[in-house]
Amino acid sequence: MGEFKGDTPRNRLHHDVPEKMKALQYSEAEKFAVVNIDVPKIGDDDVLVKISACGVCGTDLHYHKGEFLAKWPLIPGHEAAGTIAAIGKNVKNVGIGDRVAADPLQPCLICFHCTRRKPLLCDNLTAFGGNVPGGFAEYCRYPARLVHPIGDLPDLEAVLVEPAACATHGIERMQIEVGSRVLLFGCGPTGMLLAQLIRMNGAAHLTIASKGGPKLDLAKELGIADSYITISDDQPHMEMQALKSANPYGFDIVVEATGAPTVLEQAIDFVRKGGKLVVYGVYDESIKIAWSPFRIWEHEITILASFCSMGHIPEVIEYVKAGKLKLGGIANKTYRIEEWAECLEAVRKQEVVKAAIVFD
Ligand SMILES: [Zn+2]
Ligand SMILES: [Zn+2]
Repeated sequence: MGEFKGDTPRNRLHHDVPEKMKALQYSEAEKFAVVNIDVPKIGDDDVLVKISACGVCGTDLHYHKGEFLAKWPLIPGHEAAGTIAAIGKNVKNVGIGDRVAADPLQPCLICFHCTRRKPLLCDNLTAFGGNVPGGFAEYCRYPARLVHPIGDLPDLEAVLVEPAACATHGIERMQIEVGSRVLLFGCGPTGMLLAQLIRMNGAAHLTIASKGGPKLDLAKELGIADSYITISDDQPHMEMQALKSANPYGFDIVVEATGAPTVLEQAIDFVRKGGKLVVYGVYDESIKIAWSPFRIWEHEITILASFCSMGHIPEVIEYVKAGKLKLGGIANKTYRIEEWAECLEAVRKQEVVKAAIVFD
């Protein structure tokens, strides 16, 4: 990465910002269009980011169906990177022309949980690309404190900064003991980030178990785990059984990052006595699964979850600057907002490792 402090003049407050912009906007669940709307106005403590790329993730499929925090009309996009195009008069942390990645979550700081130092669990979360306009637009407004300089990190790597921040929070939650054996189900973009962070934070050995395909191929190419198990569509029980036999004492930590309820249900059988099960995937809200409470009691199993990131982008940038977190090659297909329907299909069918929306 290059210089973090832009050498652009800080006394300018904006830079060639047009009146109108193109954006992908939902009017309600499943109803979207490319619209021409006003460029957002910014307040004294805000910045306007000219978006260069914004990652597409599984959560966007949930927003598409109107789930999670979705509020209409909605411009989705919560994994955005771009260049500062305008700043409010109080803004000091970034200047015009700086390239930044945006943290999409803003806690209210005054609710029950925020005042108990748990902003991640805020009851009134402002979610850029969820309940306020996000990054599938040419410009997006953010409070200045949510944007972080990324130097010359390429756009298609910068879109991984937010998912990596979520993974970083997952690592904090896991509290991996030194020398642990870890099993990770799933190696989507998030799994690939988790895998790298797991190995840098105490795991002696990491196994990835995943369906075959471009994602597992890339994981192997990047060399992010110690062993890889392919779970096929037609014989999953055989392979799961083989994995169990090969690891009779199970794993200290088992991470479910596929979002598949059947995998989550079985994942607990791989947890060592005294071990932890990490619920990392995003499941449909209506899903229920069955676990044996006797087993959880008898084996003193800890079940924990990691909801999202809050303020973890600076840590991610440290790993990236140190050359330790590999972000290249994961976002492997780009689309324009006009191609959103096609992009959604490709993400749904898992034809891409990770898609990103890009702008000129
Ligand atoms: Zn996401
Ligand atoms: Zn709050």
